Amino acid sequence: MPRQINRNLIFNQVRTRQPISRADLARVSGLQRSTVSLIVEELLAERWIVEGSLGRLPRGRRPTFLNLNGQRGVLALDIHPFQTTLAVTDLGGKILAEKLIVLPVNPQKVIGAIVDAIKKMIATHCDRSFDGIGMSLPGRFDLQGEKSIFAPNIDWPIGRIKSRVEQATGLPVVVDNVANACALSEVWFGESDGLHDLVVINVSEGLGTGIFANGRILRGEGGSAGEFGHVQVDPNGLPCSCGSRGCWETVASNRAGMRYFKEIAQKPAPTFEELLKEAETGDASAIKAIEMMCVALGRGMHMIASALAPSEIVVVGDITTLWHMAGPMIEAEMRRNPLVRVPRLRPAHEGNTARLRSAVALVMNENSL
Ligand SMILES: [Zn+2]
Repeated sequence: MPRQINRNLIFNQVRTRQPISRADLARVSGLQRSTVSLIVEELLAERWIVEGSLGRLPRGRRPTFLNLNGQRGVLALDIHPFQTTLAVTDLGGKILAEKLIVLPVNPQKVIGAIVDAIKKMIATHCDRSFDGIGMSLPGRFDLQGEKSIFAPNIDWPIGRIKSRVEQATGLPVVVDNVANACALSEVWFGESDGLHDLVVINVSEGLGTGIFANGRILRGEGGSAGEFGHVQVDPNGLPCSCGSRGCWETVASNRAGMRYFKEIAQKPAPTFEELLKEAETGDASAIKAIEMMCVALGRGMHMIASALAPSEIVVVGDITTLWHMAGPMIEAEMRRNPLVRVPRLRPAHEGNTARLRSAVALVMNENSL
């Protein structure tokens, strides 16, 4: 809706340019002064933003500057199979505190560990009021039933996390698949205008896809749309965590990159981050492994570009830290065969913190600013 888009636009201008006057908001947003004033009054009344200091001009009335309401915040969780990052952010998604939670090996103790960490974080930031808790998760969720319907890389009861955390904290919890959340985050915090279609690909332990089309996240029946990672690309390929074989994620995820390296170098890479560092420093085996992974990513993106014709494909994940090398490899492969429409390919704006920011976007979107 235009009104909602304009509200987001004004809120985001305050977020990125604060402190800012109403007159400057009108100038940078291109909206009429009266429209800006109306939206600003709404945002003030709902305490998303606050009035701050008086500005100085060479002559005339002194304008009142506007800021985000610094008293309010969001708790954001970026959940991976074996670890979780917990952060406190302001309403603009700026990270104020961050903590890595290593998840217990015992699947029955995982949610308890996450709940404890959240409660501690709230206690140390008791001067702040929290609007809610956002969680980006590797898996698909039935948002109505609030249960996990597909999370093949997770062996702990992730479907119960929302209700457990809500009970323990009394705060509203919003969960979504990480790729969906990142797509929402691109619209919420990024340069995307909320109008054009985009696909976010989260390259991690597996591969997740979030599709933003016709102004909304494409969810499909039961919230299970976007599993391009489990489209079979090689019938004789390796077994996949989903029960199938040769899925796209078996050849293009971080795990695939690690496997390629092991085959080429005849020794394992300690972590995917290490593998990226090795490639950065010019190690031939690491570069070859990354290249094989990028070729596989590019092939899958050709399929996605052909099927959905998004104007952009946005990549999220550790691979974006090596984008100067990986980006051109992926793009070359994606363009190797003809495409009716070639999408713009780019890394997520926030790089490594994109997944945390996406959890903030979930809460902001739910509160429908
Ligand atoms: Zn699979």
